[in-house]
Amino acid sequence: MNRIPAAVRDRVLAAVDELADEVVEFTSELVRIPTVNPPGEFYPDCARAIGSRLEDCGFEVEYHTAEGRPEHTKAHPRVNVVGTLAGARATPVVHLNGHFDVVPVGDGWTEDPFGGEVRDGRIYGRGVADMKAGIAAAVYAAEAIRRSGVKLLGTVEVSGTVDEESGGYAGMGYLADIGRLAKDRTDAVIIPEPLNVDRICIGHRGTYWFEVTTQGRIAHGSMPFLGQSAIEHMGAALEAIRTELIPSFKSRKTEVPVVPEEARHATLNINSIHGGQPAGEIQSPCVADRCSAVFDRRFLIEEGFEATRQEIVDLLDGVANRVAGFRYQMKDLMVVEPVRTPDDAPVIQSLGEAINGVLGREATLVASPGSYDHKHVFRKAGIENCVAYGPGILELAHQPDEWCGVDDLVNATRVLALSILDLAGVEAA
Ligand SMILES: [Zn+2]
Repeated sequence: MNRIPAAVRDRVLAAVDELADEVVEFTSELVRIPTVNPPGEFYPDCARAIGSRLEDCGFEVEYHTAEGRPEHTKAHPRVNVVGTLAGARATPVVHLNGHFDVVPVGDGWTEDPFGGEVRDGRIYGRGVADMKAGIAAAVYAAEAIRRSGVKLLGTVEVSGTVDEESGGYAGMGYLADIGRLAKDRTDAVIIPEPLNVDRICIGHRGTYWFEVTTQGRIAHGSMPFLGQSAIEHMGAALEAIRTELIPSFKSRKTEVPVVPEEARHATLNINSIHGGQPAGEIQSPCVADRCSAVFDRRFLIEEGFEATRQEIVDLLDGVANRVAGFRYQMKDLMVVEPVRTPDDAPVIQSLGEAINGVLGREATLVASPGSYDHKHVFRKAGIENCVAYGPGILELAHQPDEWCGVDDLVNATRVLALSILDLAGVEAA
């Protein structure tokens, strides 16, 4: 940061002040496009809205439709947008990425979830914090530099991508798959997710979703002793998880600064369970011969995936040894490896200094309990120099009456602008 003259920084910060209304207005415009995922509504409209704003701001714009991905359908096309603002040199390339899909509205709203209303210093709407304000901040951070007349040495890219809320495989995952986002062409990536305006997110825990199916033997319900209940077998498996596995999580704590603090431990959630005949239909008297449950295990970088999976296998094998007739099958549904940005990644230092410069306080490093598009940047594209930093309060994501503070939005725009200056470099005046 010190290599950027103070006069240059001041010019850019003044430019942010002048365009503050526009960044708010653009955020509202994005909120008014109800890009609900699932199923992935209005993606082309939102990609075009971002693309046309990027064009207004001098970017060259490309659209990347995730052809061939199963999520991409005629009814719900998966369209991503990438804008490039070329500097004096081709490199370094600083890439800012936001997902424009939002989760379903849910109950409990008192505001119009797709109104984009601005009141008392807050912008309201589904997805405003997570993360349409972040996209607007990224676009206008670059635009503030352009309007200030400061010439960047390197290149700035801003992308709007789909499906982060459902894994991002047709979004950031797709851009990595086609090489649009790659280690040899992208030097730094910032993802403006809502993590509070003074925190830098350096990664996330691992995710392991698996399904366990227990098998029994069907018999007449009036003579259950002649069959074997798959539901009771699942009960034995759940009991083993509750009494043997969960208590051991207490002593397993990661060194990574995951927030909230409870999520520094390993966790396991039961997503769903179903056994026997379909609910809500006419039933016949039968012993259940099948029961399945889906589990969501979040594992620590210190645990690793293989050991995490083996532990479940060993636990269920233990149940099989002591419960007569216990048979099970296990299926991996999703594995996301944990991610951690190296301590010496330039993007951490750059954002830290920018946060200090704008807010006058030290940035806090955090990590996320759940995964986000960082995984594709790190694991697929191989780019280690990546963090998440953006406006909005983490805990408001996915809640009713979601909002983002105008102050946060403008401050994050300032921070991103200073960090772009630092990471891309400026031409000597
Ligand atoms: Zn998000």
